[in-house]
Amino acid sequence: MSELESLAAEISNCARCLLHRGRTKAVPGAGPADAEIMFIGEAPGFHEDQQGLPFVGAAGSFLDELLDSIGLKRQDVYITNVIKCRPPGNRDPLPEEVEACKSYLDRQIELIQPKLVVTLGRFSMARAFPKARISRIHGQPCKISGVIYYPMYHPAAALHQPSLRRTVEEDMHRIPELIKQAAQIAESAPPVEAEQLKLF
Ligand code: URA
Repeated sequence: MSELESLAAEISNCARCLLHRGRTKAVPGAGPADAEIMFIGEAPGFHEDQQGLPFVGAAGSFLDELLDSIGLKRQDVYITNVIKCRPPGNRDPLPEEVEACKSYLDRQIELIQPKLVVTLGRFSMARAFPKARISRIHGQPCKISGVIYYPMYHPAAALHQPSLRRTVEEDMHRIPELIKQAAQIAESAPPVEAEQLKLF
């Protein structure tokens, strides 16, 4: 068993927070261990909880479309979430749930060592940019401790708010170029918005 597989097995048996009581299946993540790109969503929803796989509902179909638009398939990338079990009624993850799952995500990033970590939505963005606003920093890559984070809106946000669709598509289209340039991207300060908010 690879380290990533044994981590997935650990996650499937996790009881660190109360969400384990209501889950059908934990959703550790899916994709190759040597993926260049890692997508981090928020939390499993109904279908993900049933199947134990990330992004298999409507947001997942849109993510597939977006990947297709840059010549990638789901099998080319690693997809996971900030928290690995479904919150009841798909409510937002609680801070203690995010904290309980944090080391799993840390280890997934360490093991996969992706060239680019694409955060999908607010909760995922907050890992790298805790005080930033997604409307200000989406589409701006930032290298932190050797990892290039690229914040994007969550695909579900674009499904609920059609005016965001174009923005999400445009941010996605920049990914191939970012991958090419990854080695040249220097360690950077957080995007301006995150920096400014830290002052208050
Ligand atoms: N939304 C997410 O953030 N993650 C999933 O796995 C599915 C929908």
